[in-house]
Amino acid sequence: MGDTVTYAVSYNINYSNYCAASCPICAFYVPAKLKGKTQRGGYELTVDDVKRELEKARGGLGGATEIHIVGGFNPYLPLEYYEEVFRTVKKYMPDATLKALTIPEIDFIARTTGNSLKETVLRLKEAGGMEAHTGGGAEIFDPEVRKQITTKEKISGEKWLEDAKVIHSLGVPGNSTMTYGHVEEWKHIVDHIIKIRENQREVPGFLSFIPPQVQPREHTT
Ligand code: SF4
Repeated sequence: MGDTVTYAVSYNINYSNYCAASCPICAFYVPAKLKGKTQRGGYELTVDDVKRELEKARGGLGGATEIHIVGGFNPYLPLEYYEEVFRTVKKYMPDATLKALTIPEIDFIARTTGNSLKETVLRLKEAGGMEAHTGGGAEIFDPEVRKQITTKEKISGEKWLEDAKVIHSLGVPGNSTMTYGHVEEWKHIVDHIIKIRENQREVPGFLSFIPPQVQPREHTT
């Protein structure tokens, strides 16, 4: 507020790049169905791998103040995996904020592990120690634009907003985002921002607004 500026030293851990979606704007994922059948660099971190990452996060710049964890939509990992990874983060770095998973990722985990969204969030929060979601996956809410840059696994814009309200009502806040610079027009950007504002008025929980711009030339994979 006012003249006060705050910042976090964030360390990013991507637990897996296997993904059941295949968004046209994504250079990160390896198709989940190719697990064990490709040399394209698919991976899943073990809890020991995560511990090694946390060692790195504790060094440099006085140590990270935030651990940011996201991955692809991995259909092979049970809910217990996320709980264990998150518990490990809180055990090794109790003072760092654990900000994890995009809203579509949480929705995907709920669907594939047979839990409701509410049960999933409460388990990740209470057993795992998740303190915030990352706010990713909002992209652009407009359905026509969304159809061109994502696939159906990544939930509709409407569902993203509904899920945000459920997650916020359970005491897990997070960011709001908007990925732009692809096929959207100004009207889609305005519509997106208004929807986030309305959502925040209904069930507050957004901590910030982050608009990442697509950088197609920087992607090499
Ligand atoms: S859901 Fe995420 S990781 Fe998967 S393809 Fe889309 S942007 Fe990439």
